[in-house]
Amino acid sequence: MRVSVDRDRCEGYGLCAEEASHLMHLDDDGELVLDRAEVPPESSDAVEAAVRVCPVAALKVS
Ligand code: SF4
Repeated sequence: MRVSVDRDRCEGYGLCAEEASHLMHLDDDGELVLDRAEVPPESSDAVEAAVRVCPVAALKVS
């Protein structure tokens, strides 16, 4: 499983990072940084929660 962010949609709310803080964080400018694009199997629930919580549907898994 891979996670990606649509930078045109992302508004930097950071809700996703609260759900999957070991995979993504906001930098000092409020830009989302994906720490690991490749999601380990044990983190699939967390990343799916991050996708669901994003209010602008900017995260995608494939
Ligand atoms: S919750 Fe959505 S809009 Fe907010 S930082 Fe994450 S991807 Fe961006």
